[in-house]
Amino acid sequence: MSLTMNSRSHALKVVPATTGFNEPFPFMRPSLPELSHVFAEYQPAYRNGVLTNAGLVCRLEAAVAERLSVKHCVAVSSCTSGLMMVLRALGLEGEVILPSFTFFATGHSVLWNGLKPVFADCDPHTWNINPAEVERKITADTSAILAVHMYGNPCDVAELEAIARRHNLKLVFDAAHAFGTHYRGVPTGSFGDAEVFSLSPTKLLVAGEGGLVTTNDAKLAAAVRAMRNYGDVGAYNPKWLGLNARMTEFNAAMALAGLPLVKAKVQRRSQIAQMYTEKLSHIPGIRFQKVDPGDTHTYKDYSVLVVPEIVGLTRDLLAESLRTENIETKKYFYPPLHQQHLYSIFHEFGATDLAQTEHVANNVLSLPIYESLPDETICIIADTFERIVRLARARKAS
Ligand SMILES: *Cc1c(COP(=O)(O)O)cnc(C)c1O
Repeated sequence: MSLTMNSRSHALKVVPATTGFNEPFPFMRPSLPELSHVFAEYQPAYRNGVLTNAGLVCRLEAAVAERLSVKHCVAVSSCTSGLMMVLRALGLEGEVILPSFTFFATGHSVLWNGLKPVFADCDPHTWNINPAEVERKITADTSAILAVHMYGNPCDVAELEAIARRHNLKLVFDAAHAFGTHYRGVPTGSFGDAEVFSLSPTKLLVAGEGGLVTTNDAKLAAAVRAMRNYGDVGAYNPKWLGLNARMTEFNAAMALAGLPLVKAKVQRRSQIAQMYTEKLSHIPGIRFQKVDPGDTHTYKDYSVLVVPEIVGLTRDLLAESLRTENIETKKYFYPPLHQQHLYSIFHEFGATDLAQTEHVANNVLSLPIYESLPDETICIIADTFERIVRLARARKAS
């Protein structure tokens, strides 16, 4: 972690801060439970030869349902398959309103069901879907709202639930980032008709691969339970057009061993986020995701908004400059869905229709955040970030 000298200052107008790292370090590294704990859970299943969708999956489902105070939890192969099955089990038709500022798996679940995605703009401060924009996009063909707790910052759940009730729409949350999130003190998992979590390695609760569908609707839970197993309910005559979207016992063992770690992960990530925010808030033109003080954010990701006119350099140039210092960043989530090839044909509205989405997606920069990052690394990242901006401004003035 000593000074770096780089010879790239000629290229791309990269700003050489020379205070970064000598070696690259990973942008993301999952903190996993002890392998011995995973094996201890898994060994009986392996010995019995019962390898998928059995006792460990049941235990995981029961533990999660209790923890999230929700009646039903159905473990599945991924958040994507969970969303696909939930939308199908709800019998949706026509249009689904969703954010464009999200990961593409959210939209894929809509397309896989032959439904039409209708994008609603995000809130400029929370970066979550804006309920007023959702309401504005409702037509006679709308059947559901699919909202995302962005980075683990809970949506305006009360307002979305009120809109869904008022217009008789289904409401589903893509809670991929939100295992550990609390909205007004209540854990996510019981809101809307269903919520779907991801257990893939970049998320807080890691199963290797996996997803969790949570709902208080017994019929919906039973349908997803059948659908993850080809749609068969035991009669060898499938009731649903299902998938093989079961969770294996090994994945369930990993998730069970990981459950006790989640609380501390959320705490450490909040600490890191607070450190970043304190340090970067001195830089003019850096904006932060607004979090309601009554809520708990998981910080699956920590992102800032770079307002180029004020900061004096673009998000992309800042990212490139940080990379020169061996600090890797991501642009979660750029480009927004409506600018991606698969989705562009569905975007029939004017260019200003998703103005906030475009502003956020064009300027958002995600910084490394994971539990094992030491405080001093966070300090170096923040200091280097600040120095790059200061040098860029000085260069502009000269
Ligand atoms: C990671 C992610 C998904 C997909 O989760 P998988 O478990 O990998 O299918 C869906 N939505 C969002 C917002 C995500 O970040």
